[in-house]
Amino acid sequence: MKLNQNYSNLKDSYLFSTIAKKVNAYAAEHPDKKIIRLGIGDVTKPLCPAVIQAMHDAVNDLSTEAGFHGYGPEQGYDFLRESVKGYYEKRGVALQLDEIFISDGAKSDVGNILDLFDRDNTVLIPDPVYPVYVDTNIMDGRRILYMDANAQNAFLPLPDPSVDADIIYLCSPNNPTGAVYNKEQLAAWVNYAIQKDAVILFDAAYEAFIQDETLPKSIYEIENAKRCAIEFCSLSKTAGFTGTRCGYTIVPLELQRNGVSLNKLWLRRQTTKFNGTSYAVQKGAQAVFTPEGQKQTRETIQYYLENAKIISDAMDELGIWYTGGKNSPYIWLKCPNDMQSWDFFDYLLENANVVGTPGAGFGKNGEHFFRLTAFGNRENTKEAVERIKQLLK
Ligand code: PLP
Repeated sequence: MKLNQNYSNLKDSYLFSTIAKKVNAYAAEHPDKKIIRLGIGDVTKPLCPAVIQAMHDAVNDLSTEAGFHGYGPEQGYDFLRESVKGYYEKRGVALQLDEIFISDGAKSDVGNILDLFDRDNTVLIPDPVYPVYVDTNIMDGRRILYMDANAQNAFLPLPDPSVDADIIYLCSPNNPTGAVYNKEQLAAWVNYAIQKDAVILFDAAYEAFIQDETLPKSIYEIENAKRCAIEFCSLSKTAGFTGTRCGYTIVPLELQRNGVSLNKLWLRRQTTKFNGTSYAVQKGAQAVFTPEGQKQTRETIQYYLENAKIISDAMDELGIWYTGGKNSPYIWLKCPNDMQSWDFFDYLLENANVVGTPGAGFGKNGEHFFRLTAFGNRENTKEAVERIKQLLK
């Protein structure tokens, strides 16, 4: 038998294990020091009361014969799809129920969507990037072209008409850079994709952090995007579902290639390989979209955004160049004195006892950059920022 040889082309993912190793070693040597972690991509606030109530009610449903739910529809219950549809309607995006697929999170869908595409396609991926886009394509053995995101383009690369691509990854607000595309920039991508007959895989996992009303939260706010884009979204960062697991993917009915509907293919894929997100989790997810759930989840997002402001204000004060921090939980900063990102990691850990994420872990263009996140608690964020200011001023 033969194994998938493409796995041998994957680079070992050292980033978070190396960080953990370095932090643990430092903590063991300096047990008296209080280390503050501003590197985490996970949320820290609990699920909001509306979600908890809905999940408790759902568990009660499951305890009676009348309320019991076994296998549900693979593409999600209509009650949740209707809620997602209503959420998009509020920003002027009209979706049909059949275009909405509920899942257990964006990571699985972002990986699984590749089942729809032949290996013989060229993939265009920004660098630096959320590593899942790269690794899932390496596993399948596709050709990858990288597009440079850097300080010159404010980490928002635009299409190069001389480059041919079939699958394009865009993530806005971006992980790791926190940069957000405006409507004009996304329109350039939509036009490019249509011209090249390519499909955009648009990751909107951080859309809930967008406060600026002029910025697009969905690619479907751009004309013609339904002809060329699939959108992934998640309740992980929106509503604290990182451990509860629920997301949704939009595959427009208009999206066709070679006369074949991608929506039909994805439905076939999901009904074959996926047995749905649990009833109780979908009930909890539905509560996110109620007026009460919206109010409560927005309060938590405001809390994280206030942390982001505390961090980005400090960068302004120190005169450090950064992206993000305004419509995103991530602050992506240029390491002072042109330090390499791992050197800056060690410097910050040893001298301020603050942990961040070295940009080099997200691609070659991440070298000399560093990611701080706003998902910690207020007290620790303030203390970490004071220590950074003392150290770098
Ligand atoms: N997309 C991006 C850009 C992310 O940063 C993350 C998680 O950090 C995900 C997707 C995964 O989301 P989920 O928890 O829904 O799988």
